[in-house]
Amino acid sequence: EVDVSQHIEIPKDPLLDGLLADGFDEQSCLSRYESVLYRKTSPYKPSPYLVSKLRQYEDLHKRCGPNTQSYNEAVKQLRSGRNVGTTDCNYVVWVCYSGLGNRILTLASVFLYALLTERVLLVDRGKDMAGLFCEPFPERSWFLPLNFPMIKKFDGFDQKSRESYGNLLKNNKIRASMKSLPSYLYLHLTHDYDDYDKMFFCDDDQALLKKFSWLIVKTDNYFVPSLFLMPSFEDELNKMFPDKVTIFHHLGRYLFHPSNHVWGLITRYYKAYLSKADERLGIQVRTFDKGAGPFQYVKDQISACTIGEKLLPEVDASGFTVNPSKNPKVKAVLMTSLVYGYYENMRDIYWEHPTMSGEIIGVHQPSHEEQQQTEKPLHNMKALAEMYLLSLTDVLVTSAWSTFGYVAQGLAGLKPWILYKSENQTTPNPPCVRAMSMEPCFHAPPFYDCKAKKGIDTGKLVPHVRHCEDISWGLKNE
Ligand code: GDP
Repeated sequence: EVDVSQHIEIPKDPLLDGLLADGFDEQSCLSRYESVLYRKTSPYKPSPYLVSKLRQYEDLHKRCGPNTQSYNEAVKQLRSGRNVGTTDCNYVVWVCYSGLGNRILTLASVFLYALLTERVLLVDRGKDMAGLFCEPFPERSWFLPLNFPMIKKFDGFDQKSRESYGNLLKNNKIRASMKSLPSYLYLHLTHDYDDYDKMFFCDDDQALLKKFSWLIVKTDNYFVPSLFLMPSFEDELNKMFPDKVTIFHHLGRYLFHPSNHVWGLITRYYKAYLSKADERLGIQVRTFDKGAGPFQYVKDQISACTIGEKLLPEVDASGFTVNPSKNPKVKAVLMTSLVYGYYENMRDIYWEHPTMSGEIIGVHQPSHEEQQQTEKPLHNMKALAEMYLLSLTDVLVTSAWSTFGYVAQGLAGLKPWILYKSENQTTPNPPCVRAMSMEPCFHAPPFYDCKAKKGIDTGKLVPHVRHCEDISWGLKNE
């Protein structure tokens, strides 16, 4: 049998089976058209229903987006402070908050919520969002205009804000029967939210939210799994995502196209260090321990996982027994970390010793920024480039608890091996576990039964929403 795929170049589809809309200016966003050249074709196809929802959304965005007549009228209503009921253009504003991995996951979550509730997503650009990503929707920007009346209040929104839905509920200031409602609601969905804030995930409350033209959301959580537990969204979600583990995979590829500047970082690095290898392994190292590291117990964990799971070959410590082959297989390891030490350790191991398998292992790390610096532009450009480069590898090892890794696995469409979070500065045993799905984990889900009005284990309600491998109380789609 002849393997024809080796000889025939099958032209790749840059629009990803209809996921992406046609008609953008290619030069303004090269990644949108060129990413297929760097990726294997995804085995996961978007459903025709999702594709049609996206085209409908794009029409809505064109009609209601920034600086349209409808938008201007809705802003006027917002300024007036009075709720005059919803119109055919209603909005959900995403407030820029937290690290870049978190932001990418929350934007996808809020966009899905916008699709489900037929709202227009508007994006607060914070300090650097505009330099990181291309516009995802045709013709109209997704950015909140800079003269939007409330931008200055965004930073101050927190768990105590009087205008949050949770606090209005707690203080008995909001009910479905009320005649006069405020012109907007602030939805506080960050990790420190309380039981009232969490009522967002109940159907009755969603009915009330429908009365608001303006919702403003601050979150650092991928809250999609809990939307799957809400009866009112069930049908739509099932139709959009018959395959329930591909939510972020599709929405991420739809929304997040690196800007030309970031695309330059990605493609130069890929061509210099990764493209010529026979196989690519991504290792994302993120520790949440005290001190920056590198830590010996994490070095040991990385080796135990990669060698134990046969992702990398063992080395011949004596260094003499292996006959080098003429044409050895070359494996490129792309390591990302805030620090340098894990990379240096692995690079030296595979330079100083031959491998038992005869393979050659090249180890590369694009940056070591030492510290998280959420608001420095080039810092986050590098962070995005590295998440994206990880998503171009064939096999992934990620770190527990890290949204940086979730983004990479979702864009890649890969189930990673997750390095467990270490306890008491020791190497966990086993060092890592294979993820059940490529979906991100919702770190702070509600545990509440809206109907029975009592606590419940939301990880046990349906087979496709389970507790996460890396956070026992988290929820993810399996
Ligand atoms: P999480 O904290 O791991 O969930 O991921 P986030 O992306 O939300 O926040 C971590 C931030 O630290 C990133 O946005 C980067 O700014 C920085 N960071 C963490 N790990 C890396 C890394 O491997 N490379 C780079 N360039 N930055 C990193």
